[in-house]
Amino acid sequence: MALFECAQVAVPPATEAALRFYKSGNILWIVKNAWSLLIPLLILFTGFSGKMERFSQRLGKNWFFTIVIYVILFIGLYNLLFFPIDFYSDFIRTHAYGLSVQTFGRWLSNYSKQILVTMVISSLFVWIFYLLLKKSPRRWWIYCTLVSIGIGFILTFVKPIWIDPLFHHFGPMKNKELEHEILSLAARAGIEHGRVYEVDMSKDTKMLNAYVTGFGSSARIVLWDTTIARMKPDEILFVMGHEMGHYVLHHVWWDMLYTSALAFLLFYLLYRSSHFLLNRYQSRFGFKQLYEIASLPLLLFLMSLFMLLATPLNNYISRYMEHEADRFGLEITQNNRAAAEAFIVLQQQNLANPRPGRIYKFWRCTHPPLGERIDFCNEYCPWRQEKPLEYEKHFRGSCKTQDQPIFGFFWPLFDSNSGGNINCPYMTPRI
Ligand SMILES: [Zn+2]
Repeated sequence: MALFECAQVAVPPATEAALRFYKSGNILWIVKNAWSLLIPLLILFTGFSGKMERFSQRLGKNWFFTIVIYVILFIGLYNLLFFPIDFYSDFIRTHAYGLSVQTFGRWLSNYSKQILVTMVISSLFVWIFYLLLKKSPRRWWIYCTLVSIGIGFILTFVKPIWIDPLFHHFGPMKNKELEHEILSLAARAGIEHGRVYEVDMSKDTKMLNAYVTGFGSSARIVLWDTTIARMKPDEILFVMGHEMGHYVLHHVWWDMLYTSALAFLLFYLLYRSSHFLLNRYQSRFGFKQLYEIASLPLLLFLMSLFMLLATPLNNYISRYMEHEADRFGLEITQNNRAAAEAFIVLQQQNLANPRPGRIYKFWRCTHPPLGERIDFCNEYCPWRQEKPLEYEKHFRGSCKTQDQPIFGFFWPLFDSNSGGNINCPYMTPRI
């Protein structure tokens, strides 16, 4: 098969350390998933959940405070039981592989803050589900789905402005020249008043990343400062082109839509299976009704199980969106070599395996494996083959090929939609 070669960047083989990280990571993934299913079962079958409910009732007196106290106790216990695995995987292991630069104090402080945030958010919302369970024994799964969709919207909106800043500092980009280039690229992608934040991840990690989050007035692109430090400007521009792809193609919205549809299915399955299990094991659980707060571990166990089973589909959809964001990034920057090299930097810094096995891809890859992404950079360049671009309709201006910088310079004369100041900056060769 003779493919048009857009770039010739070879995929470096995984290093010995990357392979060890990959293999031990798979075992850790199985252990974590198994443990997260076992903990609620343990709390249920020992009858401890029923005991915690009675304790919370004595302390809380009324219905609402019983729920809040139980929820706080449950989250505390769950995290206590998970602590050894979390400590090993997030602190010991990342240091052993030279990926983390976090002090133990900072790790523990962020870990505790994370638990506190979970307690506050759960206390704010869990009672609504239990009210619905009590008031509507047959239709609660429909109402609970609608409520969880609403909560999902609220949390997606507030996370970047209220929650993320509790852990890291988000500020404007320090490198103003690079910021200017990114904002010009954003303007070309049709993003006006684009918000790009630099986050101080270098305090914690050597790994690289960038992401799009929030929606409406909280929407933003976040660039880890480690990415800025490690990648060359044209590689960063491709990464930002990829993130702008997510933004312009409304991937946050599509993701919320998909999650909402999935929530209906999951809550329906929860409805069918939870009553069945409760009827069968009532005496061992030590509570009788699903609307009692002691049922929380039962509902959590089932929800975690169904979500685990949905993982391959979630990953498949996520990989599709990531691939399209790569296509968008390539089309808007038209710099295949820089894109492929950005992925190589990512592979080396994050100790990634560029060609993982099929089972790994199925269960764990939210992004296409880096080897496949580099392959795509090497073979996708329709602008050099006189072929139409998939996402050109989203781009301001109509600089179709790299050979027409003069057209780019005059383009405001030809395009009435222009902002008047974008002269195809990405078509001119950069140094
Ligand atoms: Zn992405």
